[in-house]
Amino acid sequence: MSISENVKKILSDLPHGVNLEVAAKSRNYDEIEESILAGAKIIGENYVQEAEKVIPLIKEKVEWHFIGSVQENKINKMIRLFDMIETIGSVEIAKILSKKCETAGKIMKILIEVNSGLEPQKSGVMPEIVEDTVKEISKLPNLKIYGLMTMGPAFEAENLRPYFKLTKVLFDHIKSLNFENVKMDILSMGMSDSYLVAIEEGANLVRIGTKIFGPRNYSR
Ligand SMILES: *Cc1c(COP(=O)(O)O)cnc(C)c1O
Repeated sequence: MSISENVKKILSDLPHGVNLEVAAKSRNYDEIEESILAGAKIIGENYVQEAEKVIPLIKEKVEWHFIGSVQENKINKMIRLFDMIETIGSVEIAKILSKKCETAGKIMKILIEVNSGLEPQKSGVMPEIVEDTVKEISKLPNLKIYGLMTMGPAFEAENLRPYFKLTKVLFDHIKSLNFENVKMDILSMGMSDSYLVAIEEGANLVRIGTKIFGPRNYSR
């Protein structure tokens, strides 16, 4: 099936209220454009270097989300390119981002990335400090928290279920606290192999690459 057919099929199959984010890393302009013409409204990029080549070429109005690891020396470019950063994993990086957004005169939408697998080598906030982290970051003037994102360990779909469940519990808990300047609207979980399980566990934004474009030439 073509990129266009894949996008249309996924869009028509997603339950009401669940949004598709096209995970576009390693894909070129033509591929991304085809996904947009088929109805994709949110595009996720992992690398600033790739994003800055393609974003200026796309004329359609779509939302650009950053889903890679946030590097301090790329933040100014990220502020210019992206509408949302899904991978904020510490108060420290949030403070730096907020400062730079202030200089740029922008309020950046963010998600807090949860390290739901408790993996020390991976990014994201450990579950037991997510509440405090959200509270701290919510005080920063130039960021606005819209929800949570998680990857989970590199397991097959069914084995990811507990990590999605945990992230949903945190999401609901933080939502119930009604922190000022926090909107718990978006729960970004699930990729090509796992999005159906993620949706069952409460995801309302799924990040899909391979199932739309086919296998990548590199895997990162
Ligand atoms: C690559 C990537 C995806 C999509 O992965 P696929 O298996 O290709 O669907 C989703 N989220 C993040 C953060 C990614 O880096």
